[in-house]
Amino acid sequence: MSRILIIEDEQDLAGLVEYNLRAAGFETETANTGAGGLAKARAQPPDLVLLDLMLPDIAGGEVLRMLKQDPELRKTAVIIVSAKGQESDRVQGLELGADDYVVKPFSVRELLLRVKAVLRRSDAEEGPAAVLSAGDISLDTSRHQVRVKGEEVVLTALEFRLLRTLLERSDRVQTREVLLSDVWGIQAEIHTRTVDTHIKRLREKLGPAGDIIETVRGVGYKLSPQQ
Ligand code: CA
Repeated sequence: MSRILIIEDEQDLAGLVEYNLRAAGFETETANTGAGGLAKARAQPPDLVLLDLMLPDIAGGEVLRMLKQDPELRKTAVIIVSAKGQESDRVQGLELGADDYVVKPFSVRELLLRVKAVLRRSDAEEGPAAVLSAGDISLDTSRHQVRVKGEEVVLTALEFRLLRTLLERSDRVQTREVLLSDVWGIQAEIHTRTVDTHIKRLREKLGPAGDIIETVRGVGYKLSPQQ
């Protein structure tokens, strides 16, 4: 049975979500502040966190950042639940490592579907190990681990997806638009700098091994293991 932690300061909404999750067979816990939510997550790591962005004490984005920095919790699935439906908020949430984003008001049915989909995805990632490698970089898809010359490099969920996508499509140029759509799930051309920013950060984290990510001027990026 999966445990879900609901971090939400609107009592009525938290109650409604909790009621429905329990009816669907989930174990739940609720916290009405960011600090309370972090404490509960640390006391007993949940399988998934439903995280409101507008909390009375710590901003939800900060809670997410702290979850992702905690070695025990960084692989916990997170769905942001927020009234902030702007695409920039969505992008920011996903950049911070959230798995999905649900905009208020939402239907309980939709939320349940998203919860199940995210949990299914994290289960699948625990399946048989597949290691993708190029140059000094190796990426373990099931353990969500990246190593450079055997040393672990800690990446955000988004950087991980970006690197995985590049590795899976080695030697093939990926346009910014394709990366945005496949890594970020966004169909738009306005955020193309987002891709550049993340590629830059990913290269920095990978050190000299990151040189195999080539910039294809005016087009996008390509991972070239032969360099
Ligand atoms: Ca709130």
